[in-house]
Amino acid sequence: MDRPTLTDAERAKTLRETILHHDRLYYVEARPAISDVEYDRLWSELEQLERAHPELITPDSPTQRVSGDPISGFEKVRHDPPMRSLDKTYERGELLQFDAFLRDKLPDAVWDYTVEPKVDGLSLSLLYRDGVLVRAATRGNGEVGDDITANVKTIRSIPLRIPTEATLVEVRGEIYMTREGFVELNHREEEAGREPFANPRNAAAGSIKLLDPREVAQRPLDAVLYGVGALSGVSFTTHTAMLRALAEWGFKTPPWQRLCMDINQVLLAIDELGSRRHTFPFEIDGAVIKVNQRTLYASLGSTAHAPRFARAYKYAPEIAETRLNGITIQVGRTGVLTPVAELEPVQLAGSVISRATLHNADMIEAKDFRIGDSVLISKHGDVIPAVDAVVMEKRPPEATPYVFPNVCPVCGEPAVKLNDEVATRCVNPDCPAQRVGRLELFVSRNALDISAIGGRMAEALVQAGLVIRPLDLFSLQSEALATFKLISEDGSERRFGKKAEDVAQALAHAAELPLHRWITALGIPGIGETAARTLAALFPSFSAMKETTLIEKIIAFYEATDRKLERTDDRDLFTGEIIARAEALAPYGVIQRDDPSRNIRDRYLLTVKPEMARSLYRFITSPYAEDLFTRLAELHIDPKPELPQANGSALAGQSFVITGTLTQPREHFEALIRQQGGSVQNSVSKKTTYLLIGENPGGSKYTKAQALGTPLLTEAAFMEMIHGASQPSSSVVAAPQTPPPPKKPAAPSKPKAPAPTEYIQETLF
Ligand code: AMP
Ligand code: ZN
Repeated sequence: MDRPTLTDAERAKTLRETILHHDRLYYVEARPAISDVEYDRLWSELEQLERAHPELITPDSPTQRVSGDPISGFEKVRHDPPMRSLDKTYERGELLQFDAFLRDKLPDAVWDYTVEPKVDGLSLSLLYRDGVLVRAATRGNGEVGDDITANVKTIRSIPLRIPTEATLVEVRGEIYMTREGFVELNHREEEAGREPFANPRNAAAGSIKLLDPREVAQRPLDAVLYGVGALSGVSFTTHTAMLRALAEWGFKTPPWQRLCMDINQVLLAIDELGSRRHTFPFEIDGAVIKVNQRTLYASLGSTAHAPRFARAYKYAPEIAETRLNGITIQVGRTGVLTPVAELEPVQLAGSVISRATLHNADMIEAKDFRIGDSVLISKHGDVIPAVDAVVMEKRPPEATPYVFPNVCPVCGEPAVKLNDEVATRCVNPDCPAQRVGRLELFVSRNALDISAIGGRMAEALVQAGLVIRPLDLFSLQSEALATFKLISEDGSERRFGKKAEDVAQALAHAAELPLHRWITALGIPGIGETAARTLAALFPSFSAMKETTLIEKIIAFYEATDRKLERTDDRDLFTGEIIARAEALAPYGVIQRDDPSRNIRDRYLLTVKPEMARSLYRFITSPYAEDLFTRLAELHIDPKPELPQANGSALAGQSFVITGTLTQPREHFEALIRQQGGSVQNSVSKKTTYLLIGENPGGSKYTKAQALGTPLLTEAAFMEMIHGASQPSSSVVAAPQTPPPPKKPAAPSKPKAPAPTEYIQETLF
């Protein structure tokens, strides 16, 4: 291939710039200057040039908007500064308080306010280095989000390059799906036999998380930008000046803004915006009020949740009237019977509503919903449709009160209310609906991620009696699965066929998944994904959960600290006991020693909450779990926890020797050290960084370490080290001169028997 001549390179550059310029005119400013044919000609010339000379391709070339292969997941990125939310209010009075609060905080300052729409989409962060878009991320939890660069590049209104001298610019805003695009997309989805999206926000969220950028490019996504994060080489004194700069750089900024001199003008502006709320191409769920002077932001600061310079004002939800055509009952994984309102389809705040949950029998009774009634519906949180009230004047004379079923509509067994619950439950553990529910959770994405068994397949497998308990999946023969016939709603039959292979693969993969995914998959009451992660950190493996001592200790710890508050007389004695227990838990990484000025309970904040511990205890001591442990052992599946802070290099270059008895087998610690980049030796030498020391340490290793001045590390200090700090705080490293601290494990008092096993629990497992 001939080398690109200078003119090729120049030509490519000109073409890139010309196309990006026209993209901006078309997608951002909606005033195209050339015809489609002319645009296409520019485009194909650039493509040809780049094909002949791939070295001319730059990351900001318009041809690179849709590039790259599907990925298997998103990388995590850390936000600095964090992406905070907004404090919200529904009351005008609270805005006056906001103003008063600011004047109190800033007695000498003068400022004005801006009002702009609160776009109901997904928070977005765009990072430009030397003017080139290098990273796009979701907000995630505010501290850590997902890297969605490839997907975001497909949004044509987002500039790939911005004309700035600044070395670093982080622009923040919102990705949304246009109302129009949403309706079209849902139409397509329905035709393809898929579930339509509930609203534009969900559709945007679902689209931006697609793993194939080519698919994302087909989705009608757009973005509006209204803020900045990290900046280097540029700064702004006011919000309005910042928005102007964003617009100059080629971003879509809020299409409506008002600058207000005082809070009264703000109130007028939010009224004006309220009357226009449906005129925007995106859904809005409120107004955002910001102090215009950015120079005041630093002294105002922020809470963990939101900055103090802004407030969101949410508009009252909109209401529609329609007819309640019927009430159907859904039975979930835990046997709960959920009544669903079947409504005459009606347009409400941007989408068509035909169903809404009625929550439970009490709610139907309290609001006296009767079939045939005219009802008022709204969207709660502007998203979830809810039936609020009956229009009594319009009640048909023949309408009778709704009688909530006392049998499960799926299995026909009794459905009852337990204890003080509002829910009515089917208490038949063999209920097919519950089996399906459990299987669905088991195969769901955050659990074992066996997508081929989604929805209809789960139901069919249970119906056919092939899967009773989720683990039955593992003993299903591929053949049985391949020839399994799935009957669709229209009555046509189709074989599971090749998908059986996908299942086999997913199962093999599931066996290797970390412990928290398995704990999530079990659907233990009150233990979702987050709790599962916390709990998984306590055990070296799934089978190790059979050993209940640690959980018992945690339960006992909470009971002790609870009692403490009432007993002042023997408080000191009691406090000592709590400390001993807490220290005994420290090696497991479940204790966070907090600010010593706080009270003892707070100081030893456990990451494992009492309800979690109790629920896990009930589960692992249930007959269901016993069966589970046995079957997993037969299948040779024993999931292990993912290592804390798996950066893999916390101990890089460090060499450890282990001596004495630790709270877990030595292999466990060896694995931890290796996975964090450290090494383990059998004897102490000059090269040894630390001697990890347990109870009854071996004499020779200890003496040698003393002689060489090798630092000693208790198990607690070690755990602290790999959990975060790369250096243990000096207080927890035993000085080499002192003999190993006598570590007497606190004798745990027998925990009170957990509350009498609840009925639900038994029926569940
Ligand atoms: P919420 O997600 O309801 O807690 O509201 C906070 C979010 O509103 C922020 O994180 C932004 O993503 C979003 N938002 C939408 N429009 C704006 C705007 N004009 N200014 C600031 N934030 C906005
Ligand atoms: Zn049932």
